[in-house]
Amino acid sequence: QVVIEQAAATPEVPAHDIRITSRDRVIYPGEGLTKGQLADYYAAASAIILPWLANRPVSLVRCPQGRAKQCFFQKHDAGSFGDHVHHVEIREKDGSTEPYLYIDDANGLLACVQMGTIEFHGWGSLVSDVEKADRMVFDLDPDEGLDFGVVKKAAEDLKQHLAEIGLTSWPMLSGGKGVHVVVPLIPRAEWPAVRSFAERFARALSEAEPERFTANLKKVQRKGKIFIDYLRNQRGATAVLPYTARAREGAAVAAPVTWTELRDIDTAQAFSIRDIDTLVERSNSRALAGWGTADQALPDV
Ligand code: ATP
Ligand code: MN
Ligand code: MN
Repeated sequence: QVVIEQAAATPEVPAHDIRITSRDRVIYPGEGLTKGQLADYYAAASAIILPWLANRPVSLVRCPQGRAKQCFFQKHDAGSFGDHVHHVEIREKDGSTEPYLYIDDANGLLACVQMGTIEFHGWGSLVSDVEKADRMVFDLDPDEGLDFGVVKKAAEDLKQHLAEIGLTSWPMLSGGKGVHVVVPLIPRAEWPAVRSFAERFARALSEAEPERFTANLKKVQRKGKIFIDYLRNQRGATAVLPYTARAREGAAVAAPVTWTELRDIDTAQAFSIRDIDTLVERSNSRALAGWGTADQALPDV
């Protein structure tokens, strides 16, 4: 087992009141990273993650025994997370309502980590009005074996096409294989309109360049191509949130980057939870300061 060297000085982490149990439990066996280290990551990252995570319905990827053991996706509040994790009743298709999880502070974030959460996924809308999207995400999913350079080129092209219709976008390394192109929105349009827009946009690209892109979820259609996953943009769908740790080998995190930086990055796993100091420093840098924010709405179509 890998022994992680302790930093000379204990890093200062923002205050939270959550007691993390089993700090020595290994969560990332390949890296020898423990639950305590993951909790320290989230505590130190709370100020940069909460602007994206707070006050929107979230789904959790929980792996209580570590990422290599059983993990599960949890979207409903089971009532077992304590007072810092809240729930919002959301109407289901059948007219009933279900309690969805949300958090609004570092205590809520750490309470989820205490319960074995590694990943945080969020709706593209806030609990204050779940029907109105405050972002679109184009999740670029490359076929197996495709070079990351191809993904970058695709992301750049989406950026250009979005700019042509007046929309500013930002890239995020997923921490897995792809890049998410994030388009912030003034929460005005409701999900049917947003989904329709995202689908037409993805289909227009795949029809223009069918050898590069597909807008079809089916894996057989993806051979050598990139799937432009527009389905993140429908009511109830989630996307992984900025600065979330991934439950994958390497302990990579979903990392916002600038378009300029992206040109020199050659993997979607460029940052890991061990890069916490860099991530915090970067997020306060001038280049990343405005990442993911813009006063813009979908064009009328
Ligand atoms: P990668 O870059 O490797 O594709 P990703 O986070 O984009 O990483 P995807 O498989 O493309 O992974 O999934 C996109 C999003 O769909 C996820 O971020 C997640 O929010 C959602 N998702 C994935 N799997 C599930 C699931 N089993 N249940 C609910 N939502 C899921
Ligand atoms: Mn993806
Ligand atoms: Mn996807």
